[in-house]
Amino acid sequence: MFPLVHHPDYTAPLPPGHSFPMDKYGMLLVALEEAGVAHERVAPEPMPREWLEAVHAPDYVAAVLEARVDPERQRRIGFPVTPRVARRSQLSAGGTYLAARLALQRGFAANGAGGSHHALPDTGAGYCVLNDLAIAANRLLEERNARRIMIVDLDVHQGDGTAVILAGRADAFTFSMHAAKNFPVRKARSSRDVELPDGMSDDAYLAALARELPACIDAFRPDLILYQAGVDPHVDDRLGRLALSDEGLSARDRFVMAEAKRAGAPLASVLGGGYARGSAMVVARRHAATIATLGEAHMADRLQKLH
Ligand SMILES: [Zn+2]
Repeated sequence: MFPLVHHPDYTAPLPPGHSFPMDKYGMLLVALEEAGVAHERVAPEPMPREWLEAVHAPDYVAAVLEARVDPERQRRIGFPVTPRVARRSQLSAGGTYLAARLALQRGFAANGAGGSHHALPDTGAGYCVLNDLAIAANRLLEERNARRIMIVDLDVHQGDGTAVILAGRADAFTFSMHAAKNFPVRKARSSRDVELPDGMSDDAYLAALARELPACIDAFRPDLILYQAGVDPHVDDRLGRLALSDEGLSARDRFVMAEAKRAGAPLASVLGGGYARGSAMVVARRHAATIATLGEAHMADRLQKLH
């Protein structure tokens, strides 16, 4: 059993017909149940305001928490920042922090939300309001829960916000492997960016990951990995541009867990993007498969050690 961080308020109502699959956060539990994935559910606290302000501009944090984000920023975010959306963003950051704390104790934990990697210091963007990854990493480092944190971002979109917020820090490393031609148009500079051509499928993708990630891990030697495990590199994703199969995504997730174990670093995963055609349940099942794969890969290794 591994800890899964979840809160009922991870889902917040959006205007009718909105294309963001907000229901996937609740459906993730159904999908995990359906697949028989044994886990222990833990509820997060909202991230306290001071920790939001440690990486975001206080004016922007105030606008989010008081649900008065200006129209231009709301356009950039892609949905209205209501009080419920503000609460969800604060809980999601608290959830990533909690998952990391639990991973430090247990080796692996998953947040059933988070991965809001496009949020920048003074604005949200691309369906991201507050950057849970940067907020959690900064707090974990400040509290000395970890000394060197690596963010492994395999969402199909670049983790531009995380890269900008954590740029120049010696205690944080941002690794982003993404579709070169996808959002955002103007890329930021991560510690390591791996840009992939449109239409790349399993074998080439896994080869690129195997070529790039181990060297970064060896050079940086993280004592904690935050894994943005977006499932939008899937071939059927609406906003993808890559062509991974279900098996390809599983192989990706097994590889990342194997690398974390090799480095002796606990791993906390966050959901990230996933925009399936059709029902939100399709994408919830993809996220559930990722979490199940990571949980199994983590346990398999522990069972081997016992023998
Ligand atoms: Zn994405």
